[in-house]
Amino acid sequence: MMTIEEAKQIIEEVTQPLGVSEIRFDEALSHTLADDVLSKVFMPPFNRSAMDGFACRKKDLPGPLKVIDTVPAGGFSIKTIQSGECVRIMTGAPVPDGADTVIMIEHVEEQTDSGILFNKDRTNTNISLKGEDLKPGDLLLPRGTLLKSHHIAILAGAGVDEVSVHVQPRIGIISTGSELIEPGSEQQPGMIYNSNGHQLLTRLNELGLSGHYYGIGRDDYESLKELIQKATREQDVLLITGGVSVGDYDFVPAIFKELGFDIHISNVAAKPGKHTLFASKDQTYVLGLPGNPVSTYVQFEECGRLLINRLMGSTYRPLRLKTNMAEDYQRKKSDRFELLPVKINAEGRVERLSYHGSAHMHILSAADALMEIPIGTSQLLTHQDVYVRPL
Ligand code: AMP
Ligand code: MG
Repeated sequence: MMTIEEAKQIIEEVTQPLGVSEIRFDEALSHTLADDVLSKVFMPPFNRSAMDGFACRKKDLPGPLKVIDTVPAGGFSIKTIQSGECVRIMTGAPVPDGADTVIMIEHVEEQTDSGILFNKDRTNTNISLKGEDLKPGDLLLPRGTLLKSHHIAILAGAGVDEVSVHVQPRIGIISTGSELIEPGSEQQPGMIYNSNGHQLLTRLNELGLSGHYYGIGRDDYESLKELIQKATREQDVLLITGGVSVGDYDFVPAIFKELGFDIHISNVAAKPGKHTLFASKDQTYVLGLPGNPVSTYVQFEECGRLLINRLMGSTYRPLRLKTNMAEDYQRKKSDRFELLPVKINAEGRVERLSYHGSAHMHILSAADALMEIPIGTSQLLTHQDVYVRPL
């Protein structure tokens, strides 16, 4: 069995980023930059007041200072401040020539005839200098950035209205299993509700992507093959759950072989999700996820996000945080890398949950994180360091 690191390396090697297109910055959320974006502007574009107050010369303090003009945000003053003068100024407005300081309005006494008086001993400069954040030609965002809302704000703030991004993959989803019924229909003996299809579709939505749901594929070789053929013709990626292990009705690997796909991964030393499958043909990729919902969840996070991000031109590195055990933990076998749903207590330490195995999807609503247990580790002692991945 290959390790999860080997599996992830194969996914990176086999996949190629999809093509590039130019889109508006405000439609670029959840896309990856295909080129570096350089600043064309100074940020701030002028010496900007950081406070509501009075722009003046520090050496004239405490005054009195004569108020010679008012500058609102969006305005500017053509006056140059001379000795004994100041300008009333608002946050965000350009500081007039001659001033080196803005005193806060809270630190001023207004005196009708002679002007204003500074009533503190000291002040900060309270001016953001032109270009202190960015200058033309500075790197605004590097190629490979997967754009979140704060990146969109950075683009907008620098006046960038168009960016070059990788197109998002078209992603299809099939849930396999003759035992599956959809929520809304009545439960029959031996039948269970399809959880995975809906999990994956909405997980994609959470990541700013959309999926095409092909419904439930029955455990029937020919009809499942037809459904898979249709999905792989129409999509760049197929996420297919169930039917990937070694039971009598697990037809998925054989179907991909018959359809001429190269099967790169069929077993991973990972728990849950040993029977994860990864196959490709030309530029079409398939991730087969084991049917138990926690396995689907965990292996989508491990392999699915890596695959999708790679197609979008970015790398996926799950956020891992180091903490330690609040209690002992033991497991019987240590031959697989495990991601275990756990609780993070008020001290930020790991507590166990009563977890019944990979069919126990409900545990994820009580879990705060997945804890990593390396291959070869069968026991963790209280206070021992561990890595967790917040959910
Ligand atoms: P399989 O990988 O097809 O052997 O399925 C493993 C287990 O996961 C079986 O108990 C299935 O009934 C269950 N399972 C498969 N697909 C789903 C699904 N879409 N939603 C919920 N459970 C599933
Ligand atoms: Mg099945």
